[in-house]
Amino acid sequence: MRVLVLTALLVAVFAKENFVGHQVLRISAVNEAQVQKVKELEELEHLQLDFWRGPAQPGAPIDVRVPFPSLQPVKVFLESHGIEHRAMIKDLQSLLDQEQEEMFAFQARASSTDSFNYATYHTLEEIYNFMDMLVAENPNLVSKHEIGRTYEGRPIYVLKFSTGGDKRPAFWIDTGIHSREWVTQASGVWFAKKIVTDYQKDARLTSFLNNMDIFLEIVTNPDGFAFTHSKNRLWRKTRSITPGSSCVGVDPNRNWDAGFGVAGGASNNPCTETYHGKFPNSESEVKAIVDFVKDHGNIKAFISIHSYSQLLLYPFGYKMDPARDQSELDQLARSAVTALASLYGTSYQYGSIIQTIYKASGGTIDWTYEQGIKYSFTFELRDTGRYGFLLPASQILPTAQETWLALQVIMEHTLNHPY
Ligand SMILES: [Zn+2]
Repeated sequence: MRVLVLTALLVAVFAKENFVGHQVLRISAVNEAQVQKVKELEELEHLQLDFWRGPAQPGAPIDVRVPFPSLQPVKVFLESHGIEHRAMIKDLQSLLDQEQEEMFAFQARASSTDSFNYATYHTLEEIYNFMDMLVAENPNLVSKHEIGRTYEGRPIYVLKFSTGGDKRPAFWIDTGIHSREWVTQASGVWFAKKIVTDYQKDARLTSFLNNMDIFLEIVTNPDGFAFTHSKNRLWRKTRSITPGSSCVGVDPNRNWDAGFGVAGGASNNPCTETYHGKFPNSESEVKAIVDFVKDHGNIKAFISIHSYSQLLLYPFGYKMDPARDQSELDQLARSAVTALASLYGTSYQYGSIIQTIYKASGGTIDWTYEQGIKYSFTFELRDTGRYGFLLPASQILPTAQETWLALQVIMEHTLNHPY
């Protein structure tokens, strides 16, 4: 009997969260009244809904993961208010199982960055190992810097690509601040390899690196990322504990000191996916970047990469006021998404965060822009919701390649427009 109890306990502690019976619904709220109704749904904690794309303007798609027991009540609620919906992902667990099978099929550990498999998803350990190999193979171009420690004590690393000089103007890229957005970390790995491969071969990149440095933070939320592998594939937030709450984690893209906690753009409820935390920079993962950016003092472009929705966004998220450089940022965004589309025809929308998706306060690029980093952008990579966060690994390479084209446009513009 005791053995049985112990076994049950161990299973409870070590088992991965399963999503059997969960569906992702796409909701179409066509007017403001319907948007408000969906927001009411968001407040009903007992339904345990996970909004993949939250309610915004009328007409904008809303995606929500609904646990099996909540499916009926949610559908009844929507239908009673005449709100259209359909199942985007009918069987979430089977997609997760497929992703796991593919990962295990490619589990061989690479001995160099040439034999590394860029077309599959990797664990934190594999990505950290990749970084070490890349540095060892390219000691004159790449170095690894620990910029802080996570809440759970993991090192936070930034790769620096530099051909010399002290604190040259720099271009920042981060991926994976939301841990479940796996195609972003996978793209970050590919970017790192692309940079070392193209240096001294591709004229544009070579000229860029002869004048500017690139900083790349591939795993920006290491605790969350480890947790997506060990326990819950759909974990978004950090893993910090909020005293007095049983809910874990803070949304690290609501935790920056830019309109922090402004009503409507984040939540003060620790049990929501957009909880902003107790105070700005409360999350060590955010604080590490804040300290780094301030200490460096010469970062000219800051690109924070998320998924999904296929958007290229610039400030602001927390207020309607246009950014001072709005027209330049808008033109640059247009050029970048045009370049992106040239490879596979992937179509992106662009604009300010608040006008393109919804009000979001305490976001990364609002803070960097207010620090004077003019070229502050956020990407939302593939797709538009067919797979959402569970983008098949077969799309990693095309996603990274097309995104790189957009990044190159922003890099070139930054290099040619010193300020
Ligand atoms: Zn995100």
